[in-house]
Amino acid sequence: MPFFYAMNPMYWLFMIPGLLFSLWAQWKVQSAYGKYKQIANSRNLTGAQAARYLLDSSGLSNVKIEESQGMLSDHYDPTSQTLRLSPENYRVPSIAAVGIAAHEMGHALQHAENYGPLKLRSAIVPVANLGASFGPLIILGGLFLRMESVAVIGLAVFAVAFLFTLITLPVEFDASSRALRLMERNSLLTTTEMQGARSVLSAAAWTYVAAAVAALLQVLYYALIIFGGSRRRS
Ligand SMILES: [Zn+2]
Repeated sequence: MPFFYAMNPMYWLFMIPGLLFSLWAQWKVQSAYGKYKQIANSRNLTGAQAARYLLDSSGLSNVKIEESQGMLSDHYDPTSQTLRLSPENYRVPSIAAVGIAAHEMGHALQHAENYGPLKLRSAIVPVANLGASFGPLIILGGLFLRMESVAVIGLAVFAVAFLFTLITLPVEFDASSRALRLMERNSLLTTTEMQGARSVLSAAAWTYVAAAVAALLQVLYYALIIFGGSRRRS
């Protein structure tokens, strides 16, 4: 974050709500996951076993399953067609492990079916990463040089980072609803266990909503300093 922005009280007015929302969502994940990673599922399935079962029964035997490093580092990698589960979900037969494995399986299914929002999200990843890191610097440079067009380009590039967080929402919601359907259809969890898995997945969904809201507030803040500033000058 450029020093200039940190000095502006307006910056914090826009940042703090997003930050608080993100912290709340993370707390929700920690409490739901913390609870259900400790409760074993009645079929005694680890995340790895649940994922393998779901992949094989959906005709995705080619998708590999690997153990990743770090807590909640679970993800599906479309490039290598690999489903990676964090150690706790890979090895432990908990309710949370099955829920999260089924969610990542949802992403594998999206990839196999060429699900539109997932394709769009993958396509904008490079620009979104660039926009998140360089957008604010380009905006600052434009404002400093009093070149509004440069600042607007910075804002547009940064807006792609927000767009990424927005497209992430249907991708994540869809993966979780696929997960719930898969678990139900294959009777991986009992009805009570399903409620636990659902609360873990919905807590995780809130973190994506919080990220999108935080990114939107940042875009609005930068738009305000670019266009608000130019109105004052004219
Ligand atoms: Zn996901």
